[in-house]
Amino acid sequence: MCPEAISRRLSKPIRFGSVTIGGDAPIVVQSMTNADTRDVKATIRQIKELEEVGCEIIRVAVPDTEAAAAIPAIMKKVSIPLIADIHFDYRLALASIRAGVNGLRLNPGNIGGLERVKAVVLAAKERDIPIRIGLNAGSLPKAYKLGQTIAQRMVTVALEQIKLLESMDFDLIKISLKAFDVPTTIEAYRDIAEKMPYPLHIGVTEAGTPRTGIIRSSVGIGTLLYMGIGDTIRVSLTAHPREEVFAAFEILKSLDLRQRGPVLVSCPTCGRTEVDLIRLAEAVEKELQKITKPIKVAVMGCAVNGPGEARDADIGIACGKGKGILFKKGEKIGVVEEKDFITTLMREIENF
Ligand code: SF4
Repeated sequence: MCPEAISRRLSKPIRFGSVTIGGDAPIVVQSMTNADTRDVKATIRQIKELEEVGCEIIRVAVPDTEAAAAIPAIMKKVSIPLIADIHFDYRLALASIRAGVNGLRLNPGNIGGLERVKAVVLAAKERDIPIRIGLNAGSLPKAYKLGQTIAQRMVTVALEQIKLLESMDFDLIKISLKAFDVPTTIEAYRDIAEKMPYPLHIGVTEAGTPRTGIIRSSVGIGTLLYMGIGDTIRVSLTAHPREEVFAAFEILKSLDLRQRGPVLVSCPTCGRTEVDLIRLAEAVEKELQKITKPIKVAVMGCAVNGPGEARDADIGIACGKGKGILFKKGEKIGVVEEKDFITTLMREIENF
């Protein structure tokens, strides 16, 4: 029996350049460069690398006027929409808008008062570009209502900021409410999702290195997505941003929300395994990174339980001692010597 499809919260769609976020648009994968934005060549190189692995929107830090001045040269050479990340200085938001960015990420509460927020919102409105109100648990106003949880405080502040932007007749809004703590993140997003119509950028902030950060992010982002919440995702990792994009697509693929590239099924190995399956699965995974077509590949460790999964995949192998049975779309198509496992599998995958 097929599992029920996830029913997504319908948010108000907005556009960042050529990419729609919200409504019934696919959930968008984004990341952030860690190259110095002032170094135009390095930033372009990194964005292009991220485009190649599927990144659909990129955010760059704009810490000073030199970084804002670099934006036009960067945008000329990349194909995906670019968002400027602004903290504290509203003049950098204005400079980024003038430089042609497709969107802004800022916290209206930390750019210096109502007049400055107004100036930025007016400029964004003139250029028709959205603003993400990006709140983090660590950057909430110090004094707030007693008795509220951190998630409730984030939601209260976000709703106030939404109201502020709406009072300026601006509705190209996207919201993020991130915390390191997964239950806090889930509580905040679940709560705000019912209270306003705007699209949600979801993620778990400062999630850590890939080993633990991918798990933390997958639990947080995956839970929200399964509840139908989230229009765009970023996996925040202490790593090269390409790892964020890989992880984001794996989360979406695991919930059948997006397809990109192969899915690898491999067994956990046990006392029945008679080949070095861990090495084989790692080698196949590495080879599969070069492939963009959606295909399910299974690498199984024995001829007892292995054939079931191997048959279920587009291409599968159930490995016994020195030999493996090869399957294509459920049909046995041959027996392969151990030394030929990888080359044979890759040939079948390429020809599939
Ligand atoms: Fe063990 Fe075979 Fe299952 Fe792999 S497929 S875990 S080798 S029983």
